[in-house]
Amino acid sequence: MFLNTRSKPMDLQFYETLEKRCELSKVESGRLHTYRNGFTGECLYDQLFDEAGHEDVLIYRDLYLQTERSVTQYDALIINDDGIVVNEIKNYTGEYRIEGGEWFRNDRQISENPAAQLSRATGKLIRIRNSVNAGFNISGRLIFVSDDFYLQTDDDSIWRKLVVRMDLKRYMRSFRGGHVGNKAQYIARLISERIVENPYFEADVDAERLQKGFYCGACGSFSLQKSRFHLVCSSCGSKESNETHLLRALADYQCLFYGKPMPSRSFMEFIGYRLSRRIVQRVLLEHCDVDKKGNQTTYSLKYRNFEEKTVKLQRSYKYKDYLTK
Ligand SMILES: [Zn+2]
Repeated sequence: MFLNTRSKPMDLQFYETLEKRCELSKVESGRLHTYRNGFTGECLYDQLFDEAGHEDVLIYRDLYLQTERSVTQYDALIINDDGIVVNEIKNYTGEYRIEGGEWFRNDRQISENPAAQLSRATGKLIRIRNSVNAGFNISGRLIFVSDDFYLQTDDDSIWRKLVVRMDLKRYMRSFRGGHVGNKAQYIARLISERIVENPYFEADVDAERLQKGFYCGACGSFSLQKSRFHLVCSSCGSKESNETHLLRALADYQCLFYGKPMPSRSFMEFIGYRLSRRIVQRVLLEHCDVDKKGNQTTYSLKYRNFEEKTVKLQRSYKYKDYLTK
């Protein structure tokens, strides 16, 4: 049983949003590719676990846990009465080699060491367990979700630490018949009390680079024509309500200038003054938390995920969206 949803990581959201509003540098494109690839792998893992069944375990996904003074990220934690199994998910493709403890792809050493990552991650959980004097097992596996992943190694002991795609469903099914009783509930509580927001995410973008205004939700074009309650895309003909555009722009702003307070004047500039202050103000008041300090008022969107919110809102909107694809 999944205990939480897996939402798109902030870093991925950032680069996807950035790509919509400016030309990415080579480094930025590389990062977007890496984050997207990682997230695709994690979603595939979830899907395979759904197919294999997860009734006999509790699973936390994509967590940041506070342990003493550091914060550690976990792709998946599988919990039952026996304890916790850490799954570090890798969406590697191609030919890999481990030699002398170092990882290589096509003979080039890679920047991360998955086995070391896993051992750090399990080590932090052992600290948490020991700090409360609890007795349960903690172990971990590296999960390689791609069926296009090949590994050669001089260290046979590594195979016990990893699961490749061919064996993945069998591995997931091996949790069947386990117990989720008081002990598992206790472990889950121990974990949930230490969940924190991703502290490593930093958005840093030069506002000058960004294209201002609204763009089409279907094709991404910034060429939109105003009709009374909608904006109509000149490229593909999609028609989206003013609210949809404003919510998407709010989510973009929030992501690109993460953690920075948003005065309405900055937002008006961000949307290129394409809608009147009156319409914008109404949407800000409806969908944002308002923070008043002296004569400065700033807004922050109440929701984290634009897509989830707009899907729900569509039902209550007076003015619907009509996407061509
Ligand atoms: Zn369009």
